[in-house]
Amino acid sequence: MRSTQIRSLFFDFFGARGHHRVPSSPLVPDDPTLLLANAGMNQFAPYFLGAAAPPWPRAMSVRKCVRTVDIDNVGRTTRHATFFEMLGNFSFGDYFKAEAIAYAWELFTEGYGLDPGRLWVTVYEHDDDAYRLWRRAGVPADRIQRLGAPDNYWDMGVPGPCGPSSELHYDRGPGFGREGGPAVDGERYQELWNLVFMQSLRGAGEGLDYPVVGGLPRPSIDTGLGLDRLAAILQGVDTVCETDLLRPVLTRLEELARRRYPGREGGEVSTAFRAATEHARAVAFLVADGVVPGSTGRGYVLRRLLRRAVHRARFLGVTGPVVPELTAEVVAVLGADWPELERRRDTIAEVAHREEEAFDRTLRQGTRILDSAIGRAVAGGRTRLPGETAFELHDTYGFPVELTAEAARAAGLEVDRDRFADGGPGMSDDEGSHLISSVERGESGPWTCPECGEYAVESGQRFEQGRVVGHALMCFACQAEVVAPA
Ligand code: ATP
Ligand code: MG
Repeated sequence: MRSTQIRSLFFDFFGARGHHRVPSSPLVPDDPTLLLANAGMNQFAPYFLGAAAPPWPRAMSVRKCVRTVDIDNVGRTTRHATFFEMLGNFSFGDYFKAEAIAYAWELFTEGYGLDPGRLWVTVYEHDDDAYRLWRRAGVPADRIQRLGAPDNYWDMGVPGPCGPSSELHYDRGPGFGREGGPAVDGERYQELWNLVFMQSLRGAGEGLDYPVVGGLPRPSIDTGLGLDRLAAILQGVDTVCETDLLRPVLTRLEELARRRYPGREGGEVSTAFRAATEHARAVAFLVADGVVPGSTGRGYVLRRLLRRAVHRARFLGVTGPVVPELTAEVVAVLGADWPELERRRDTIAEVAHREEEAFDRTLRQGTRILDSAIGRAVAGGRTRLPGETAFELHDTYGFPVELTAEAARAAGLEVDRDRFADGGPGMSDDEGSHLISSVERGESGPWTCPECGEYAVESGQRFEQGRVVGHALMCFACQAEVVAPA
């Protein structure tokens, strides 16, 4: 089934059940605490929070999402993209768990024709209602797994609505991983659809412990179904980079690199093909929504994705302009479904050209410095590349730390991360301490990474013993994990 059909079947199904279709809002959200839209519910948050009256009791949408926290998974797992489309159905105090579960099961098995024998379900460990409802839908007991709060409980880390969630997974078979259900292997048992049952309310407690203070007067539903993942299953391809949403872009990259994509077993070469392909799509969508490359915030996310795409393509042997070519293909493939791509075609091409050129200069200069530093370290019999070198490359030449680390690894060296983080010469102390204190004070994000001064992005709630202790942040640049108090 083609992805356009997957979308339209979703809308036909929920439309026939009284859902109002709401267009995706842009990737740049209204919400100042959110770096980029990362879930279908973002644009409906005011309705769930009771800050605005929902104009309709039921809604459905296909939402553009960006999740930079998944960046290192891209190309390595079969299921992660940084940009993806999320289908969702929503109930604002209208229907609840019973309907949400029955709808999801019916759409999956009858609508999309997924084999019910390969579907697995996870529920929150104490959610007996959900368990019973899945059993009633026909899911055998041994394919329902009960998981704890980190996997199957949703809240916002602050007082407000919360509730258990339940996920539908598809068993891709033994070729994709270990037996034992989604609790054991997320690659083999791929999560496709997450249903959130907002039923409780967290209130102010002592400190960071926001206890559940009661039930919501009007329980609500928020769901997210990943289009890219469902397309991969329905089209029988191995990864999200090979569906009709991205395969033409991958094919264009094959032409530019004058080599074939080796498929799932192709190691670093395959990973590079997939990452460059996927990042090019994210770049096109970010530019279409008005993001401009820069050194902070969203602009930095865009720049970083673009640079990674270029770097991966160079690794594959593409010498000429690559991102302008790949993003043009993205516009050709997805422009009919996402008209903003068509409208901003020229800007996308222009930004891609300019940034790639600038990055090529950075790469040439940085590579020379890096190569000689690596040469000196190896000749001196050392196992580490000095942190100052990595810092200087990063600070003065804009050469990404991860590329330094990668080149160092290839030469059998480690980057001295501690000294990098301490700040090589020139690292502004002011900046460093400001960043740390803003995280410590628990200000709402977006935050900057106290480790390396780059951009830390919010990745969700951090739980300890079932209670929220803060936001887990992952730094986009150095991968440090930071916890900001809730
Ligand atoms: P996973 O654990 O597999 O990363 P998740 O728990 O982060 O998934 P949710 O936050 O529940 O996923 O998002 C809802 C749906 O959005 C998922 O069921 C999946 O289909 C899709 N999705 C989430 N992250 C990605 C991604 N990085 N790339 C593609 N689709 C995604
Ligand atoms: Mg995830």
